Amino acid sequence: MEPLYEGKAKRLFATEDPDILRMEYKDDATAFNAQKKAQFENKGKLNKSITLLIYKMLEERGIETHIVKDVDEVNILVKKVDILLVEVIVRNIAAGSFCKRVGVEEGTPFKEPIVEFSYKSDELGDPLINTDYARELGLATPEECAELKRQALEINKVQKEFFAKCGLKLVDFKIEFGRPSDDPSKIILADEVSPDTCRLWDMETGEKLDKDRFRQDLGGVMEGYAEILERIKNATT
Ligand code: ADP
Ligand code: UDP
Repeated sequence: MEPLYEGKAKRLFATEDPDILRMEYKDDATAFNAQKKAQFENKGKLNKSITLLIYKMLEERGIETHIVKDVDEVNILVKKVDILLVEVIVRNIAAGSFCKRVGVEEGTPFKEPIVEFSYKSDELGDPLINTDYARELGLATPEECAELKRQALEINKVQKEFFAKCGLKLVDFKIEFGRPSDDPSKIILADEVSPDTCRLWDMETGEKLDKDRFRQDLGGVMEGYAEILERIKNATT
């Protein structure tokens, strides 16, 4: 069966229900706007399992997500949404492009979380934008941007607390939102929450357990992801 869409890390397939898609997590990894590429055995499995557990945890705390149900090792069913072309990044501690952009040392904690928007465009390399850009580019209205920020901060609060129970510091993360095809008046959390899209450091040692292991050639990339999954499982059971 042909996918409806194939991205860098996942494939989307139609199902019998027009409002539901099957999402398959792949073993492919990319970084630096897909200039660096690799494949990691079990990455799809690990990211699918991590996303599913995190989204169940968020749903239990009243945050709506696109998750419908688990299918198998690498597939889940999700509500079909119209993805907003605004990626939302939340930062608790300085890292990555923040450090490069403003010359702050990695690891510097923020007093309050920083919420940032970028334009979801592979061609342009997901540039940083603000709510005025979003309005003029027709990506989201000011009211929708305020709603994205509100949900992102709530998700951050819940996830930070949950990851702390796992002995992990939630440094930063990127999330995507969409309008469900069966109820476009809503905006819900879609895509994934995994070590591909979050920076997670061991609370005690500061060890990086996320995709920075791949970006920075630290080795043991899947060992990091497996460690995160193990800790999440222990915290949810
Ligand atoms: P990319 O497109 O950046 O290469 P992926 O390989 O992760 O990323 O592909 C998944 C694609 O599916 C992303 O473009 C994402 O915006 C989109 N998506 C995520 N959740 C949903 C959903 N529930 N319905 C429709 N599209 C979705
Ligand atoms: N991120 C992501 N996809 C992107 C850009 C960023 O998942 O296209 C995540 C990244 O993994 C990190 C957070 O968003 O957890 C902040 O990333 P940053 O802006 O520092 O960019 P990067 O260092 O990846 O260039």
